[in-house]
Amino acid sequence: MAVISMVNSSIEELFKFDQNVEVVHTLIEPDALYAVLNVNSKYAQCPECKHLSLRHHSQYARKVDDLPVSGHPVHITVCLHKWFCDNKDCTTKVFTERLNWLSPSSRKTDRLEKLIRHVGFSNNCMAAEKICRKMRISISHDAILYRIKKEEPIQPKECPFRRH
Ligand SMILES: [Zn+2]
Repeated sequence: MAVISMVNSSIEELFKFDQNVEVVHTLIEPDALYAVLNVNSKYAQCPECKHLSLRHHSQYARKVDDLPVSGHPVHITVCLHKWFCDNKDCTTKVFTERLNWLSPSSRKTDRLEKLIRHVGFSNNCMAAEKICRKMRISISHDAILYRIKKEEPIQPKECPFRRH
């Protein structure tokens, strides 16, 4: 087990998803790379009414996976806040903070999701699962298929066939 100190800032730079993210801890073990991040936002926007909130409700942690690094799967613990919505007209009283790099309820960062979808669209799902496993991304072919089915089909602006 090797603990990465604050001196080795290059590893920490990998997890600076935005200016509110503070990398608290990183740890490399033989089987994985772990990181703990604090999100220190000064305010958050209610997803329902779009009002800005300055009041914390509570703090909670999410465990998510990120892009693998040098053959190590990456597991991140993200500590972030729930916020009060003080808009009296809003039905939402407490909301979870939204991040532009991690979708609500997702267990994978957006950049990892993007890679998985790219591999899934480039291969059949069985092959995509094998490729992901080689890259140290833990995902089943069913989960890849679910992502492909969820994707909106791109509608071409013009018909690719010549009109008669
Ligand atoms: Zn609101």
